Amino acid sequence: MPTSGITDVVLFVAGACVGSFLNVVIYRLPEDKSLWHPPSHCRSCHTRLGFVDLIPVLSYLILRGRCRHCGAPFSPRYMLVEAIAGGIAVTAWHISGFAPYYAAGLFATCAALLVIFFVDLDHMIIPDECVVVVALFGLARDGYHLYVLGLGWAIPFAQRIGGEQLTIYLPRSIVGLLVGGGLFLFIGWIFEVALKKPALGMGDVKLAAAMGAILGPGYSLLSYFLLSVLIGAAVAVLLMLLSLKRRGDYVPFGPMMALAAIVILLYTEPITLWLLSWYGYSPG
Ligand SMILES: [Zn+2]
Repeated sequence: MPTSGITDVVLFVAGACVGSFLNVVIYRLPEDKSLWHPPSHCRSCHTRLGFVDLIPVLSYLILRGRCRHCGAPFSPRYMLVEAIAGGIAVTAWHISGFAPYYAAGLFATCAALLVIFFVDLDHMIIPDECVVVVALFGLARDGYHLYVLGLGWAIPFAQRIGGEQLTIYLPRSIVGLLVGGGLFLFIGWIFEVALKKPALGMGDVKLAAAMGAILGPGYSLLSYFLLSVLIGAAVAVLLMLLSLKRRGDYVPFGPMMALAAIVILLYTEPITLWLLSWYGYSPG
């Protein structure tokens, strides 16, 4: 399918509009409020926001980040989420090779991860609804590959029994889900024994399992975990340098996992190859 600059602009605007809705989800989902009612309003003067206030990115810039009615400042995060969602929509479209269904699935998954990033940052919880979106994308994509490529796409587990070799085939997404979740349960348990306090929440374990369903039990999943740790370490050092956190303060790992997940979903191959190159691997 051909594409053009105009497609990119339309996709950016559409993605930013979804981002505007994601802001509502980030704010209301952890508090179990309805996502649809009441309509968006200023949290300071409670005036219902109109069309002029709700144009993604532009409203924030034109109104200089303030409520048109009472002048209360809006967090720049609203604009940031909208701009990121717009950027992801365009990127997903290009990365999918302009395949609409795949691009839509990739975008929905990254949107769920964006919600996880901010909700975990604010409340230290990872909403199950968002993890389910991530896992479903992995299962659906794997199901499609199985349908097209047959058992060759599945992972064979062979066993010699009664002098005969028997093989069962398991879907990559299912094995990845078990490996990702199991690994995190195990790591969490080790840390809990070593530090004598819980280090990873069940939300982190579920997110690792869901990412395993997408990436499968291979180098990409390993790269994803390494990337999460790298981002986590970088953020921890930055926070300490800026004196925002002290050594030993709790920094939630979920946001790092969500951020690393978005990056690796959009750039699976370059990042996997980049991390493998640290171990002297070069594609030949
Ligand atoms: Zn107001």
